[in-house]
Parts: sequence; structure tokens; C-alpha cells
Amino acid sequence: MDSLSELQEFIGECHRCPLGDTRTTLVFGVGRADADLMFVGEAPGRNEDLKGEPFVGAAGKLLDELLASIGLHRSEVYIANILKCRPPGNRNPQADEIETCTPFLREQVRLIDPKVIVTLGNFATRFVLKTSTGITGLRGSLHRAGRFTVLPIFHPAAALYDATKRNVLMADFALLGEVLAAPDEQHEPLQAELFES
Ligand code: SF4
Repeated sequence: MDSLSELQEFIGECHRCPLGDTRTTLVFGVGRADADLMFVGEAPGRNEDLKGEPFVGAAGKLLDELLASIGLHRSEVYIANILKCRPPGNRNPQADEIETCTPFLREQVRLIDPKVIVTLGNFATRFVLKTSTGITGLRGSLHRAGRFTVLPIFHPAAALYDATKRNVLMADFALLGEVLAAPDEQHEPLQAELFES
């Protein structure tokens, strides 16, 4: 693929896994095609499924506030999910769904080529870092996945009604701001494989 629009056209009205039969709208992803910062979440929720855009509900509002805390607007970053279609009732993604859908995410990452990937919550972090460690043990510290710097953080939805987690998210975004402000030469050169440490 040469562009995100070509990839989106290739995915089309996808029915490669059973979620294609239950979703309302496929949520491809949104943002700058050449963003330095890419967020990877879990899967569309109810609002996202209706609107076709990631993070449009209360969790999206919190993400916007967190971005504003480091001087960014969502139009300057790219936001995508592990799964592009909503699991019924917001249940957890299943292994076969992740396996079928994530080649699309890999291609998005390759095309966007961000400096930093922020993984939101357990499923995104486990996929990108190839780890079984939970988000609580990984959040707030920098990791490598191939050529990418990865910062795992709590999913904003988990912080909506938990002031402690919200404060942790604020602190992790402060770190993110520092990482993004670091000179380019501190970002490692390209390596061959996506997501391989
Ligand atoms: S979740 Fe991914 S693989 Fe499954 S139908 Fe949607 S786009 Fe296709």
C-alpha cells in the first residue's frame, strides 16, 4: 500500500472476521497521515460504532483534554484501534479477531511511521509489545518495539470515574510531552520489522 486511503479502500466493507456482521460502521482511524504521535486503542465502542470515528465519547473527551495538556490537538496525531469493528456489547477482543484485523494496523503504522506509539490499555499494549504483562506494570515507562518508542498508558475509559487513574494519565502525558520534544537524533534509526523488539 502507498497511502492510508489505498489501505482504507482495500479494507472496504470488511467481513474478514465475524465482527463485520455485527458492527454498524467500520472505524478505520483518524488523524494526520504523517503524525509523529500515534495512539493505539482497543476497539470501537458504541459511540464510535455509530459515528465511524475513534474516541468520540467521554473517553475521547478525556483524551482531548490530555492532548491539550501537552499543547496538542487530535488533528495533529493519529488514532487507531487494534480492532476496526465493535465487539458486541463491548466485550473483549478475541484472539482470532486480533489476528485477522491487526495486519491493517501494522500497515497503518508502516505508512504513518510515527516517532512514538502510545498504547492505550491492556490489549493494545500486549499486541504492540508482545507481552503478557498487564498495563499497570508497564504504564508510564518507555519501551521499544522495532524502530518505535512505545509508551503504554491506561485506557482513558478506565480513568473516567477514577481520579487516581486520571492523575496517573496526566503524569504519563507529561512524560509523553518530554519524549516528543526530544531532538530527532534521539529517536533510533529505522529497523526492518514492525513491533519486534
Ligand atoms: S474487525 Fe477487522 S477483520 Fe474484523 S470485520 Fe472489522 S475490519 Fe474486518
